[in-house]
Formats: sequence, C-alpha cells, structure tokens
Amino acid sequence: MTPQDLAFDARHIWHPYTSMTQPLPVYPVASASGYTLTLDSGETLIDGMSSWWAAIHGYNHPQINAAMKQQIDRVSHVMFGGITHQPAVDLCQRLVAMTPAQLECVFLADSGSVAVEVAMKMALQYWHARGEKRQTFLTLRNGYHGDTFGAMSVCDPDNSMHSLWKGYLAENLFAPAPGCRFDADWDEQDIVPFARLLAAHRQEIAAVILEPIVQGAGGMRIYHPEWLRRIRKMCDSEGILLIADEIATGFGRTGKLFACEHAGIVPDILCLGKALTGGTMTLSAALTTRHVAETISDGDAGCFMHGPTFMGNPLACAAACASLDILAQGHWQHQVARIDTQLRAELGPLQAAETVADVRVLGAIGVVETHRRVDMAALQRFFVDRGLWIRPFGKLIYVMPPYIISPQALSRLTTAVAEAVQNPALFLD
Ligand code: PMP
Repeated sequence: MTPQDLAFDARHIWHPYTSMTQPLPVYPVASASGYTLTLDSGETLIDGMSSWWAAIHGYNHPQINAAMKQQIDRVSHVMFGGITHQPAVDLCQRLVAMTPAQLECVFLADSGSVAVEVAMKMALQYWHARGEKRQTFLTLRNGYHGDTFGAMSVCDPDNSMHSLWKGYLAENLFAPAPGCRFDADWDEQDIVPFARLLAAHRQEIAAVILEPIVQGAGGMRIYHPEWLRRIRKMCDSEGILLIADEIATGFGRTGKLFACEHAGIVPDILCLGKALTGGTMTLSAALTTRHVAETISDGDAGCFMHGPTFMGNPLACAAACASLDILAQGHWQHQVARIDTQLRAELGPLQAAETVADVRVLGAIGVVETHRRVDMAALQRFFVDRGLWIRPFGKLIYVMPPYIISPQALSRLTTAVAEAVQNPALFLD
C-alpha cells in the first residue's frame, strides 16, 4: 500500500468508532494465515484478537477456503425469498442439532446487530400476536448488543451514549450489571435489583435480553452462572421471553460450546454470529422455539416481518458449515482449556501490579483491567513493535486469540501485556 493509499484512507474512510478529523493510525494487512497477520511491510503479527471473537480456527483455513471456493463455482448468492439451497439447509441442520432441542426454527441474518434486531422483533411480534401490548426489554448495564437502533436501545446507556439519541431511541429497562463474579460464592443480594425491576414491570416486558456469562464490548465482565438460572426461572414464572445474545460467546470461546451451558439454561431466542463462519464472512442467526415461531406466524401479520436481501447467503453458509465441521472434530475443547490454564498462569500474577484493577479469565478470554485509560494509539504501536496484534479500549487490555494459537505465541502476548501495564507512558489521565 502506498503512502497515498494510506492518506486516502485517513481522509476518506471511516473505521470502527473512529474520528474523521483525528483518525487513529491503521496498519495495512496484506494477508493472514493461522494465528498471524502479515503487514504490507512484511512484518508478521501474532493475533491476539481473532478479529473480534470471529477467527476461532485462525486465518486462511484450508477447509473453509476449499468449501468457499467450491461454493463460488456453484452460486455465490441467490435470493432466499421463494428459493432455498443446500448450504442453507446444511447449515440450519447443523445449528438445530448443536443447540438445545427446543431451538428448532432458524432465521439467517447478515450481521450480529441484525440478529439482535430480529430477536427483538420476534419478541415484539410474539406479544402482538397474543394480543398483549408488551414493548419493553429488560437488560443489564454494561451490556453490548450491536450498533443498530434496536440493539443500541439495550446497550449500556453510558457506553452507547443514549443521551445523544434521546427521543429517538426506545427506552428500555436497565438492571445493575452482575457484581458476583463467575467463580465467587453466590451472593443472593446481587440479583435483588433485577428481580425488583422485573416484578415492577412484569406486564410490560416483552423479553429479557442479555449476553450470557461474559459481557463483551460493554466491559468484558464475567459473571456468576446463578444469575442466568435465576433469570430463566423469573422469566418462566412470568411468561417473559429470554433472549441470549451469544454472538460473542458462542462456538466454544468460554470453554463451553455456548455460554448458556455454564448455567444449564435454554433461552427462548438465541443470537449467533461472529465465529459462525470462522470469521470469514458476515453471517448471523437467530434461533427460536416452535412455540414462538408458530405464535408469530398465527398472528395478524401472518408471517415474521423480516427478510434481508442477503438472507442465507450461500457463500457465507458454506463457510459456516465448514467452520462448524472443524468445531465438530472437538479439538477446540482441549485448545480452549489449554489457553484458559495458560492465561490464568500468565495474566493472573498481574493482579498484584499497582496499575492493574482486575484480571479476569474464562476459556480463551483474558482481560486485564487497568486503573487508568489506555492510550490506544501508543499501546497499539507498542504491541505492533513487538510483533503482536492486541487492540485495547478504555481501561481494558484483553486477548482472545484463535483457538489454534501455540503456547509460545500466547506467552509472547501475555508477556507484552505484562510489560505494557508497567509502562506509564501507555496510559492517559
Ligand atoms: N452482540 C454482541 C454480544 C457483540 O459482541 C456484537 C459485536 N461486537 C454484536 C452483538 C454485534 O455484532 P455485529 O458487529 O456483527 O453487528
């Protein structure tokens, strides 16, 4: 890439959550393979991010590539209205088989945010069909569900700047984020405010929506499974739907295939995305029960009111089938368990550092929360200079590498995180 290309990028191209007047530096990637990214300059970086939870098997996986190449020669895309195709049927069969038995009806969508929109719309249409006016969602603070307006209305109000959208964004209910940590003793008091909120609004709430066990982009918090069991019980006794957003946690990242398994609960609607295609193509899914699907379908609309142009994209479905086949071989279980053990051993001691507020590890997720906000540009440079790709935000330096990362490569990531937290020049405030 020429300096002119980079100047064009800075001047004309928006990157995620980036200013057009003071854009952060971007690093041109020429190719990627396994757990490494190769920059235009020829430098290679060990990937600690899995491209935001997605590239679980690493990049350029031969099995996924082969499936996509085969599919390109058949058909890359065809409309899904009035048409079906083998990759969609194969994918949905796999999804129905690998998720709890109750979740049998699959809606394929284009991105995580759209899957959340679809799930919320399913809940609204469900209650409409039952003749009840329930249009409120109950969720947890520090949550993140995507950047479209429906999804944003259930993201943490401070993180997603609800004040900016006042009067436009639906006003939903927010319970305090779970305080009780994943492996701490259960604290009965922790869930009381949630229970009160649910009880006070039980006639208005269409659904509870949450990220099970790990709250991702809203703070990388890892909470006690008893939260989910209690919420499932409360929802059952009030007839309220439960939406589990497993877009980040799904497909093994937390050490279970789905995070809901840590609590042994089944949601009424399950959102999947990100790692669904092994991080190769954008695709998501919202799965629900036959009861919810039939109630919606028997309502006055007569159908579910959603149907994106690229619904069920065959190329993405073929990639997803290949990715799920790799998962089905089962290596992910010991890979993630090994990463978990190593992250605990290597990041755990950072808890003692003065600059560190907290260290949290679950499965292939390792989080170091600092007292001060990171200088994102400086810290990214620091990692790139060491041949590593880690993108921190706020007060969070975290790694969630591809499951195939080697122990040596993972150590290079954790060693650099340990060095970074000791370096005051990498922090703001
Ligand atoms: N839900 C969760 C839990 C997520 O982590 C994300 C993405 N970070 C989304 C939804 C939105 O997905 P997408 O960016 O594909 O729209």
